[in-house]
Amino acid sequence: MEVVIESDSASMARDIFSVRMAGNVVGDDAIASLEYAVKYLNTPLLIVLGHENCGAVSATMGDYGVGRVLPQLIGKIRLAVQTATKNYANCTKDQLLEKCIEENTRLGMNKLMSPSEKIRTLVKEGKVAIGCGVINLENNKIKWVVAPAVQ
Ligand SMILES: [Zn+2]
Repeated sequence: MEVVIESDSASMARDIFSVRMAGNVVGDDAIASLEYAVKYLNTPLLIVLGHENCGAVSATMGDYGVGRVLPQLIGKIRLAVQTATKNYANCTKDQLLEKCIEENTRLGMNKLMSPSEKIRTLVKEGKVAIGCGVINLENNKIKWVVAPAVQ
């Protein structure tokens, strides 16, 4: 299944409550923002969206020098890289990056629900759908890792 995001930024600003973090890491600030969205704006759908060739995931795989603050970010992505590296041991480096990005969205989606009783309850009640995927920034097509659905 593929979806193309319309590039009309005015309608996106109106219709999409977007929380952007490098490496689409799901931390307390992002969770708090999304709790607000589901509670007060009645947001019906949560998507953890990674993107192809993500530099933060690539950095976690060891491609870039590590700066002063980057280690904190990398620490939040490391489990995804370790899991994908274990599960896809025979991939090329590019394929492995893709799998790490996908795993990072899957772990992010799970992490989104674990500390938030509000989000977990709304998902369980079928009032909020949740999913995760990876967008190609050149054509805006999304490859779903977990297609958005009421769980
Ligand atoms: Zn990125």
